[in-house]
Parts: sequence; C-alpha cells; structure tokens
Amino acid sequence: MIENDRGLKQKLENIMDRIKTAALSCGRKPESVRLLAVSKTMPADKVKEAIDAGVTTLGENYIQEAREKFNSLSSYNVSWHFIGHLQTNKAKYAVRLFDLIHTVDSLKLALELNKQSKKINKIQQILIQINIGRESSKSGIYEQNALKLTKEISGLENLAVKGLMIMPPFFDDPEKVRPYFSTLRNMRDHIKEEAVKNVSMEELSMGMTGDFEAAIEEGATLVRIGTAIFGKRN
Ligand SMILES: *Cc1c(COP(=O)(O)O)cnc(C)c1O
Repeated sequence: MIENDRGLKQKLENIMDRIKTAALSCGRKPESVRLLAVSKTMPADKVKEAIDAGVTTLGENYIQEAREKFNSLSSYNVSWHFIGHLQTNKAKYAVRLFDLIHTVDSLKLALELNKQSKKINKIQQILIQINIGRESSKSGIYEQNALKLTKEISGLENLAVKGLMIMPPFFDDPEKVRPYFSTLRNMRDHIKEEAVKNVSMEELSMGMTGDFEAAIEEGATLVRIGTAIFGKRN
C-alpha cells in the first residue's frame, strides 16, 4: 500500500513536471494549464490517494459510477468534471455532481441541463464538445454547427459556456493528433471573435496521456490524464 502511494505520487509529480516543461517550451505560463485527473473505473480509495498527493480536479465518465464514488469522497474539497457521453435522462444528476460538464453537443441536452440547473438554482458551467474527425462513433457536434449551437445556448439563463472540448481519433503518434488540437484552437478563436453574449471561450479541453504535450503546445487549458496517473484501466 505504501509502495502504491509512492507510485501514484511520483507519477503525479512527473506529470506536473511534464506539463510545466511543455508550457514553458512554448512561452505559456504553467498555471494556464489545469490538470484534470481522470479517475473513471478507479475505486474511491485510489481517488483519495490522488487527492492526498495533490490532485485538485478530477474527471469522471459515468454518472452511476460517480454517484456511488462520491458518497465516500464528499468531504474532499475538489472540483469534479464530467467528461463522458451524457444522456439527457442523466442531466439531473450531472448538474448536482459536476462543476464543469465538458461534453455538451446538442441543443436538446443543453435545454435539459438548463432546466435541471434552474431547479437547483445553479449556473452550470459547460464546454461544447466538437467532433472534428466527423467520426460517427464519437460524440460531439460537427465544426460547422458549433457557432450556431453556442449562440443558442447563450440564451439559456442557467448555463455558462466556457470553451470547447475534443476527443480526437486515436493515433499512437501525437503528431498525428496535433492538427485536431490546432483546429480546435482556431475554432475557439473564431467563436471568441463573434463575442457572443454570456459566452466565454477561454477553455480548451484537449490532450490525454499519449498526447498532452502536443495539446499544451496548441493551447490546451485543461488536459485530461488518466493512465499516466492511475495506471492502466481494466
Ligand atoms: C478516459 C479518458 C481520458 C483519459 O485517457 P488516458 O489516455 O487514460 O489519459 C481523457 N478524456 C476522456 C474523454 C476519457 O474518456
């Protein structure tokens, strides 16, 4: 167990170092990149280890799993983000559990999140998930529809758009993923220029264990890292 603790802490320190190095290498402030530790499938005690080691922001993919896990983690002052595919009928749980929902990709989902947020008197922060690769198996709205959706959501009182998220196609080579990251950044800048009321376009959620350094070089503000911190998932 002690060996385990040390393992996680060391992995985390290593990742924090790599984030810092990647940021500095392209003239960015290390604080401008937030680490989201992705704890899906990891049991609560493993998550506690991560929090004790210094993790402050965690990402979960499944509502049911998060609800169960959070029962034993409610005393910890950390920020929880939802990064999985969200079904409309789970929106009511999502707004209660998560500070930032990264995966809004339809007006239907946004309307439901708005309704559920209103019920609990919350302004729910969200990102819009983009499907740049146009992969039919992936969630996310296609590029050309993103501005329209952003404008529609901007009229919803209980939602606050904070930026964009992407889950690119899988490649072993981060250089193959890089164009997706730069496209997302360009989209972000383009939407930002439109200065849509009530919309802030500061966040870019992109980069995972295999490619987060390239993502940081392309402007990521939130990197979502699971395996490099918690080890392989089953
Ligand atoms: C699982 C997951 C991650 C983390 O992936 P790793 O390769 O383990 O770092 C990041 N983002 C999303 C959306 C995920 O589902």
